[in-house]
Amino acid sequence: DPATLMRQSLLAMSRSTTMRDTIEKAPVSRSVVQRFVAGESTANAVAVAGELAATNRLATIDYLGEDTLDPEMAAHTRDAYLELLTALAEAGATSDGRVEVSLKLSALGQALGRDGDRIALDNARRICQAAANVGTTVTLDMEDHTTTDATLETLRELRQDWPWVGAVLQSYLYRTEADCRDLAGEGSRVRLCKGTYREPESVAYQDKAEVDKAYVRCLKILMAGEGYPMVASHDPRLVEIAGVLADRHGRRPGSYEYQMLLGIRPDEQVRLAERGERVRVYIPYGEEWYGYLMRRMAERPSNLRFFLRALATR
Ligand code: FAD
Repeated sequence: DPATLMRQSLLAMSRSTTMRDTIEKAPVSRSVVQRFVAGESTANAVAVAGELAATNRLATIDYLGEDTLDPEMAAHTRDAYLELLTALAEAGATSDGRVEVSLKLSALGQALGRDGDRIALDNARRICQAAANVGTTVTLDMEDHTTTDATLETLRELRQDWPWVGAVLQSYLYRTEADCRDLAGEGSRVRLCKGTYREPESVAYQDKAEVDKAYVRCLKILMAGEGYPMVASHDPRLVEIAGVLADRHGRRPGSYEYQMLLGIRPDEQVRLAERGERVRVYIPYGEEWYGYLMRRMAERPSNLRFFLRALATR
């Protein structure tokens, strides 16, 4: 069907370097990037987190960049996070974990051959220590299924020193219910999302309805557990079900939280926060916004129309 074709070509575009060069060189108007991405600099990210705080929204900030095959790039990404944490602390944004950071291990060196896992772990350790120093937390993003085991192993190592390091689990993977059970213990922060990569049938549900049902099964496990569930979805049905499950397990707002992406359903973010729920917005920033933007387009053609319109009206 046309929607599937569109999604497949956008995901292909997200991996095409020619397309990337063309679009990155196109003078994309600030408004396009700004809806989904905070900007390119540390100061931009700190400013956007500050704007969200005015409506009681918390934030987790992601320095864009993935699949690094160069140790220097990995070190650069680590340093960007260290600079970000310092800037956030100076702005008074990190106390009680109000603004935290999200990391992609592939951007910290995970894919660098045999030593990749160790390099990514060392870089992540530096960032966790810096986060601890300023009173905030870190969450490890989850990437494609070939990295799931390595990422969960790195999580286990980091949690020995910093038990508050959070993980992301993706309901489209068959394995995820079991991972939810493993990570539902006290102090465990788990961000549950549907999953955004294209995965084979051997490891992941292909049908959206199946992914949604799996999301609910995972949410039940996390809400019934002792940990801290982070409900990352814009799906109105899942947001509602999360509220019902939280009630059923006697959880008060603050013993779990909702998370959404910058620029997606902002009115709903504010509405939930006004109701007294904890709401955290995922803020990407940095020069490498291309892959991120293309994945958001693939998820929703109306985002694409917005993007093309803004390009055309410059
Ligand atoms: P979808 O199935 O995309 O949408 C369901 C419904 O939500 C739609 O029918 C519509 O009603 C509503 N909706 C969605 N988008 C819009 C919009 N633009 N405007 C209005 N309504 C809309 N994925 C990973 O693989 N790894 C990660 O580490 C990761 N981290 C994430 C962190 C956060 C905080 C969030 C929110 C998502 C993260 N994701 C991650 C992405 C996630 O896996 C999904 O790809 C993405 O969130 C889209 O799924 P959805 O749950 O919003 O539902």
